[in-house]
Amino acid sequence: MTAKILDGKALAAAIRNELAGEVESLVGKGVTPGLAVVLVGDDPASAIYVRNKGRAAEKLGVTAEIHRLPGDTTQSEVLALVDRLNRDSAVDGFIVQVPLPEQIDPIVVQDAISPAKDVDGFTPENIGLLAQGRPRFVAATPLGCMRLVAESGVELAGKNAVVVGRSNIVGKPMAMLLTNAHATVTVCHSRTQNLGGVVGSADVVIAAVGRAEMIRGEWIKPGAVVIDVGINRTAEGKLVGDVEFAAAVERAGAITPVPGGVGPMTIVSLLANTVVAAQLRAKPSG
Ligand code: NDP
Repeated sequence: MTAKILDGKALAAAIRNELAGEVESLVGKGVTPGLAVVLVGDDPASAIYVRNKGRAAEKLGVTAEIHRLPGDTTQSEVLALVDRLNRDSAVDGFIVQVPLPEQIDPIVVQDAISPAKDVDGFTPENIGLLAQGRPRFVAATPLGCMRLVAESGVELAGKNAVVVGRSNIVGKPMAMLLTNAHATVTVCHSRTQNLGGVVGSADVVIAAVGRAEMIRGEWIKPGAVVIDVGINRTAEGKLVGDVEFAAAVERAGAITPVPGGVGPMTIVSLLANTVVAAQLRAKPSG
């Protein structure tokens, strides 16, 4: 059996088309969605992510405002910018790109972001709403993964889902989304014992670890849906996921490639959140 390849690039393009219609209708009401991105320092990967987010937003007709701050920016200066963006009515949503330089505490910055503009879905309020099953802004990567799972055609209710990784930005919100969709969810991490056995019980596997091809193909239950969030560069400079793709593709029912799977879905999900934020602004109050 060879798995169906879940093409994140094509799915993201289809979602962008849907979003374009929504942006057009917002603009017709006098509301141009606005996204701001704050980048502190010169981490090369972050610079690429931020540039891609800005470009994707502008292509969609969403205003993108990129704030590039030097690596020696103080926490107070970042907080002052966050405060300004919280109050700027042209900015529907904004994100502060992580990682931040060491003099800046990411939790303090995150807590300063208005939950109504937190299109990354990282603030305690938005995570709490997701935990309660009434999501507002959901972290972009897990949201994109859910669209890919839907694309596989699997009916999640009652299925075993295994999430490998428990970070606040991927693993934990992913587990909440799957729970809300009525899957039976197991979360694995660095202290999990018999990882292969746990993964082998999964109808749906989400790998979000950051270790090249650590999820072995032979662990995958035949027919399972495999979503690979990991982005790792090998010594030869090749990009690979957390899943041993060549072997897993022979057992899975559906699988995402790296690159071209989760990555494009993350960006489009951030834009979807920004459009939702703009729709909330456009909605007549009362
Ligand atoms: P983190 O480093 O924050 O979390 C990694 C998780 O993996 C932790 O929970 C850790 O466990 C767990 N882990 C580490 N080693 C093992 C192991 N041997 N067995 C089982 N679990 C283990 O990473 P992120 O969640 O931020 O990102 C994960 C990956 O996804 C990275 O490769 C990142 O680049 C990629 N990513 C891709 C995105 C995309 O758009 N495609 C977006 C975001 C991330 P513990 O908690 O015990 O330490």
